[in-house]
Amino acid sequence: MRLTRYFLPVLKENPAEAQIVSHRLMLRAGMIKQASAGIYSWLPLGFKVLRKIENIVHEEQMRAGHIPMLMPTLQSADLWRESGRYDDYGEEMLRITDRHGRDMLYGPTNEELITDIFRAHVSSYRDLPLTLYHIQWKFRDEIRPRFGVMRGREFLMKDGYNFDLTKEDALHAYNRHLVSYLRTYERMGLQAIPMRADSGPIGGDDTHEFLVLAETGESEVFYDSAVTDIQLGEREIDYDDVDQCRAVMEEFTALYARTDETHDEAKFNEIPEERRRSARGIEVGQIFYFGTKYSAAMGATVQGPDGKPVEVHMGSHGIGVSRLLGAIIEASHDDNGIIWPEGVTPFHAGIVNLKQGDAEADAACEAIYAAMTAVGLEPLYDDREERAGAKFATMDLIGLPWRITVGPRGLKNGVVELTSRRTGENEELPPEEAVQRLA
Ligand code: ATP
Ligand code: MG
Ligand code: MG
Ligand code: MG
Repeated sequence: MRLTRYFLPVLKENPAEAQIVSHRLMLRAGMIKQASAGIYSWLPLGFKVLRKIENIVHEEQMRAGHIPMLMPTLQSADLWRESGRYDDYGEEMLRITDRHGRDMLYGPTNEELITDIFRAHVSSYRDLPLTLYHIQWKFRDEIRPRFGVMRGREFLMKDGYNFDLTKEDALHAYNRHLVSYLRTYERMGLQAIPMRADSGPIGGDDTHEFLVLAETGESEVFYDSAVTDIQLGEREIDYDDVDQCRAVMEEFTALYARTDETHDEAKFNEIPEERRRSARGIEVGQIFYFGTKYSAAMGATVQGPDGKPVEVHMGSHGIGVSRLLGAIIEASHDDNGIIWPEGVTPFHAGIVNLKQGDAEADAACEAIYAAMTAVGLEPLYDDREERAGAKFATMDLIGLPWRITVGPRGLKNGVVELTSRRTGENEELPPEEAVQRLA
């Protein structure tokens, strides 16, 4: 992409309405624009990162054997009356009446809708286990939308639902989700710690939230500092292997890590004092096992091996896809702007032409652009007639992990400069080698 042909409305001034750094940087980098309270337009740069995050979520869900689909944003109130949640859900639910006077709502979550699909089409235990998921916009009329996309009213969520014959199978689905979520967050350069949590309006017995530690997080958390040393890393996972998934779940949840709702002071005090931590965290996901709560209320049964009807065991599992942009920026930025982890960066590298219009510099930039594209990398070429300082500031603000700086002086010696956004380290090398380094 050439910057002169792109749409990147960066702001020079700090927007007054932004209280936290991720919100400020997303506005300044021209990623989002508020449409109304808690509702945002995703401008091209923000949309690109959102898509990258969505793709990682899809890849990891499909790797775990979960099946993608898409349910609508608007739902009929009838299903929610069946489950009993139409009245329980309260003011966070946006209720709408259509022209025929029918009660509708903008879905805050999808347990009812998916259970209705399940009961219409699945009737035998032979069709289980089954986990369906989608990535769809949700609406929750949050009392205090704030911090940009972190607490929006309209936000993008991945929500998945498992249907199993037995509690044991459903707990395997729970563990599978836990493992797949760990991998998902790690691919985004994030450490998200599973913490024992409270089930809230979804209802359920077993639940963990995934928290990214950050001072601006809205959750209060308590944990043993040793949990921050555990990583999934590159290990091979077989998602059909019940024992392996359970072992990973146990490894990641054995140490004390809880949100304030389930915090137990006595247990906490058993941790050696130097490892006790209380901190703030951003909830980027949550997994639930809730047994037969919805299948019983809505009559979702299958015929078991003995011919008798069995209410299916279910769980639901969510990832805050749009909130993740904020969480990643909170965890990865400096005074000059965003520092994208490689896995989610909107462009792989920026090309800065120090002397636009200089035949040699222009040709070198074009050649680097073509070479990067040929190996599947996406560059953002700053081809504006601008001062070097302004070009550097823009690149730093939008946070691409690498910058290739091209100018007549370096080209005389046959070199360009490759700069790491994260470390600031510079290296002079021939243009072809710079591209190879990124490939
Ligand atoms: P919170 O405690 O932050 O209100 P929640 O527990 O109500 O979140 P869940 O029902 O668990 O949310 O939804 C799954 C995920 O969706 C959350 O873990 C979070 O990452 C994301 N999410 C929830 N509410 C919002 C929101 N208002 N804006 C952006 N993302 C959200
Ligand atoms: Mg909430
Ligand atoms: Mg919560
Ligand atoms: Mg939650």
